[in-house]
Amino acid sequence: MKCQDYSLSRKTERDNLNLNPLQRGGVLPPESREALYEFSDGYSVCDYCSGRLDEIPRPSIHGFLEDMADFIKVDHARTVHGAREGKFAVMHAVCRPGDTIVVDGNAHYTSHLAAERNGLNIVEVPSSGEPEYRIDPVAYQEVLDNLYDRGEEVSLVLLTHVDGDYGNLTDAQAVGKIAHDAGIPFLLNCAYSMGRMPIDAKGWNVDFVVGSGHKSMAASGPIGVLGVQEEWADMVLKRSDRHHVKELEMLGCTSRGAPVATLMASLPHIIDRVSKWDFEIEKTLYFVSEMEKISGVRQIGVRPKEHDLVRFETPFFHSIADKHPRKGFYLYEELKRRNIVGIKRGQTQWFKCSVYGFSQEQVHYIAHSFAEIASKFKDMAD
Ligand SMILES: *Cc1c(COP(=O)(O)O)cnc(C)c1O
Repeated sequence: MKCQDYSLSRKTERDNLNLNPLQRGGVLPPESREALYEFSDGYSVCDYCSGRLDEIPRPSIHGFLEDMADFIKVDHARTVHGAREGKFAVMHAVCRPGDTIVVDGNAHYTSHLAAERNGLNIVEVPSSGEPEYRIDPVAYQEVLDNLYDRGEEVSLVLLTHVDGDYGNLTDAQAVGKIAHDAGIPFLLNCAYSMGRMPIDAKGWNVDFVVGSGHKSMAASGPIGVLGVQEEWADMVLKRSDRHHVKELEMLGCTSRGAPVATLMASLPHIIDRVSKWDFEIEKTLYFVSEMEKISGVRQIGVRPKEHDLVRFETPFFHSIADKHPRKGFYLYEELKRRNIVGIKRGQTQWFKCSVYGFSQEQVHYIAHSFAEIASKFKDMAD
């Protein structure tokens, strides 16, 4: 049979300034592109394996996991296929079908699916709603007190450290203390934070933490990081009865080639960039202040920003779409002409974006481009 044309080219996205928040933290440094090539064959990390992926000496996955555990302050680190697989493994090991877990109202859909697949009931801690959508740790306390008064047991508390809708950073330490005081294990979802900003699982009373290699750790993925504190190691890293060396929740081995090689190659780069997180926030604050000079542009979510993912409401850009011959597509097309991509085609009412990893000059250019487009079509706006 003859295959169809799959058009495996990403030239547009690679050659332009890409504002898609999903992709900003997953860009590989050159050394990781090399590792990707070196380990591109299937099972390529298994040359020197004697049964346990996490103990492979060459390449030193063993040393890498020790460093990773140090980096995020956990007793044990493992790679999984993504943040979602990490959450699923923790829930599967710690909860029983029918159990109740408490989750923030800004949780990612994968938290819901991991719980659903494990047969768990979800109780939500509501956000403050429009326009900040803030998750207040006190609200966790209220929800837990309420459940306690009704005699309902809670087997896990989950917090989305930084959510993917508003880029709100929630105080993990405060929620960790509340969970800890209630004697409930605490899972922190760091898909948007681990690899961008410092994570202190021990200091925050975090029992389990997950990260996403392809989201925030400069890895090709799919790969995630699962951190587990000693107290829970017997449960989450339990061995198989039949295959004594294999870890059950990991289904024996997780990432077995290029994904883990790129994450390993990126660790020094990640350690370095996390130390420059303050600079990223400064750039984001500058970007928001420039964007809000444009008529009607408003940053949604907690202010001032504490993370690079920004959600803007842009009614001005939306009102232009009504009269523009290209309708809602004009914004995408005008941006692309200026070598900027990553805002969804046709989207003008609101959008999410990030300038993570761009230089100050590039951020200035991006903000200036939006202002230029607004000014060019101002006569079409109501
Ligand atoms: C992207 C994202 C995920 C999913 O991460 P994967 O590594 O792809 O599973 C989970 N949670 C949040 C908050 C995210 O933003």
